[in-house]
Amino acid sequence: MTDWQGILEQINAASGRCIQSGHSQVIGGGCINQAVVLGQEEQRVFVKLNRAELLEMFEAEAAGLAEMAATKSIRVPEPLCTGVDGDQAFIAMEYIALGGRRGDPIAAGRQLAEMHRATRPRFGWHRDNTIGSTPQKNTEHDDWVEFWSEQRLGFQLELAARNGYRGRLQQRGERLRQGLSSLLDHAPAASLLHGDLWGGNIGYAADGQPVIFDPACYYGDREADLAMTELFGGFGGQFRAAYEEAWPLSSGYAVRKQLYNLYHIINHLNLFGGGYLSQAEGMIDQLLAELR
Ligand code: ADP
Repeated sequence: MTDWQGILEQINAASGRCIQSGHSQVIGGGCINQAVVLGQEEQRVFVKLNRAELLEMFEAEAAGLAEMAATKSIRVPEPLCTGVDGDQAFIAMEYIALGGRRGDPIAAGRQLAEMHRATRPRFGWHRDNTIGSTPQKNTEHDDWVEFWSEQRLGFQLELAARNGYRGRLQQRGERLRQGLSSLLDHAPAASLLHGDLWGGNIGYAADGQPVIFDPACYYGDREADLAMTELFGGFGGQFRAAYEEAWPLSSGYAVRKQLYNLYHIINHLNLFGGGYLSQAEGMIDQLLAELR
């Protein structure tokens, strides 16, 4: 059994805590990483672990948490440190007891809109990160259509080709890329996005306040975050209404939502294969029918 000593020394040095080895609770973990809670009471930290060569993934996650925290809008766990111990990379962050019974989705909608008010002149980010375990390119760009075409849709289509998904997906996908400017003609601002905002990446603290975590941050069209909240459910009508009250969406969102979620569906195809191929093709067909 591991005593976490090497990791604890790094966490204690970075955070000023004095967590003793021995107080550890391995928890189920998320989709990608092993997770453990170290320490007791207010000293507790939430730690995710993976192979040492994935350190950069955790560094990008810590940078994303810090970027969102700096907006002082929606709560995120405070990142404490990242590092390597032996053959393991880790990220340590503030532990927040999640699963509050009376979660406040209205606050979540308002606060997400507030976070999206943090804008930049260019789309992208100062560093790449990952979406699930897939690399996500964030090279900064003045033009949203080109950014989406190259670094989102194009990147995933190319990965799909390398994974053996050639033929129809590629031909129709390429046609969609050519027509993107007529679908994305609403001149969005470059807002700070969580980037991977499915229902598994929001929770509610004991006081009901929303907490978002496990980000894949970049600056982009806020509708891309909103679209993902609708992809697998879990956010609800009150959340959406509160968001729109704080910052209404422009017309045409329903079509753009499909386009933004297509990115995640092709990513799922690349990660998991199977039924995501027909889902991706179906979405592309619907989008091609919208081209003017
Ligand atoms: P993964 O990167 O493996 O997908 P997540 O970051 O989604 O892992 O975390 C896995 C689970 O751990 C989450 O679903 C959530 O319930 C819980 N969790 C995440 N961050 C914290 C935190 N800072 N404090 C307490 N629990 C957390």
